[in-house]
Amino acid sequence: MSEVIDALVNALGSQVRIGPDIPARNHADAGGLAPTPPSALILPQTTEDVSAALRICHAHRQSVVTQGGLTGLAGGAHPQAGEIALSLERMSGIEEIDPASATLTALAGTPLAMIQQAADEAGFLCGIDLGARGTCTIGGNIATNAGGNQVLRYGMARRNTLGLEVVLADGTVVRSLNKMLKNNAGYDWTQLFIGSEGTLGVVTRAVIGLHPKPLGLQTALCAVASFEDALVVLRQFQQKHPGRLLVFEAMWREFMTVATQICGLPPAFEDEHDVTLLIEADMGEDPEGTDAFSLLLSEFYERNLIKDAVIAQSRADRNRFWAYRETPYEYGRFLPEEIRFDVSVPLDRMAEAVAHLRQEMPKQWPDAVYVVFGHVADSNIHINVAISDMSDDIKKGVQSLVYSLVSGMGGSISAEHGIGRIKRPYLSMSRTEPELALMATMKQALDPAGILNPGRVL
Ligand SMILES: Cc1cc2nc3c(=O)[nH]c(=O)nc-3n(C[C@H](O)[C@H](O)[C@H](O)COP(=O)(O)OP(=O)(O)OC[C@H]3O[C@@H](n4cnc5c(N)ncnc54)[C@H](O)[C@@H]3O)c2cc1C
Repeated sequence: MSEVIDALVNALGSQVRIGPDIPARNHADAGGLAPTPPSALILPQTTEDVSAALRICHAHRQSVVTQGGLTGLAGGAHPQAGEIALSLERMSGIEEIDPASATLTALAGTPLAMIQQAADEAGFLCGIDLGARGTCTIGGNIATNAGGNQVLRYGMARRNTLGLEVVLADGTVVRSLNKMLKNNAGYDWTQLFIGSEGTLGVVTRAVIGLHPKPLGLQTALCAVASFEDALVVLRQFQQKHPGRLLVFEAMWREFMTVATQICGLPPAFEDEHDVTLLIEADMGEDPEGTDAFSLLLSEFYERNLIKDAVIAQSRADRNRFWAYRETPYEYGRFLPEEIRFDVSVPLDRMAEAVAHLRQEMPKQWPDAVYVVFGHVADSNIHINVAISDMSDDIKKGVQSLVYSLVSGMGGSISAEHGIGRIKRPYLSMSRTEPELALMATMKQALDPAGILNPGRVL
């Protein structure tokens, strides 16, 4: 170990830190695993530095864990004993905004919020958005194929990434800072690295496609009696106003109970309803768009599809509506230890999945507090389960219940956070043997010595 660290220090000098000089923040990501200091921390400033570091680690068969903003929830960036951490935090900055191509080029360690702000100041919108925007990096977003609040309209990181620069395990730099929508010159190798969770290469630069800004944002909270009704609202909204929906979040009854009775928010409606929807749409500049939004919600109300609704009249209203959806970020203050799931379930089986959870959770763990919520238009729900005195056995029991349910319904054990270390034992519940074999072939081809993020994904 000291040999590889000596070689790294010789090549990169003060960009390499060891022992107490490694900040505690690099000992863990947000996945909740026990903090583990890496053997060394590399803080490269350029792509050439990343290349030099990987060349040395590759020659010494030294495993490396890549770290972005460390907001990942799957333990992918969390160091294992004996690994060297490579953090992109010093490779931050926007290099270009090209209004003609509607693209932004940035270094991989740039925080997402900085990219969003730069896009906004240039008159555009960055289509990638998630709750961790202030801390997560664009490299981490690409590595996890992240997507949160507006996937319905703009897609996940994959759909927003036009070009990449990547450093391979042996230090080779591969670059395609493509800005064009169409480029069919051979394999689009960049796609391989999106969602590969740092196991195939280190992303150092990216070209992000930008979108026009929404000009007539409308926000509403709507109560519906069942998920089936929520789906009718979703499809009829899309039919009537194609392409306008930005957000379609569902929060089931248990979620709203925790938001109001435990987190202290005021009730959203006088009565309790099975599902509360947070809907946002870009209805355009024309005042007729605003009218069309409220008109359609009124029509849904008259047809008994919506039981109650409030439409935001100000930014303060909008923040108030979003506060319900954002209560899970506060659960640590109010609830015992949680297990959090980000799964997807085909929409035609979603109601059945929730009914099954409602039946099984109280039966197996009577004191469990559980909530179901999420980006349902993307088939993606989050299930958070908090149980006092959570033992490893209870944790495994809850994981087994949720993952068996999801895989039995043809869903996915990870809709957005990735597999990392935490979900690796369950990957075969969502992928077939030939798929796993293909993934292993890709890993072997790109990282034959297995130095990049070992033990993550595969
Ligand atoms: C409050 C909160 C809300 C969240 N909401 C969402 C959401 O709505 N949707 C969603 O998808 N995720 C969400 N996440 C999860 C997380 O924010 C995303 O996975 C994010 O993309 C991770 O970015 P990061 O820079 O923090 O990466 P890290 O946590 O540092 O790393 C994540 C993975 O990517 C790899 N990696 C990081 N940078 C690079 C790079 N430059 N090259 C190669 N590999 C790299 C790491 O090795 C690791 O495997 C949320 C997390 C939190 C804490």
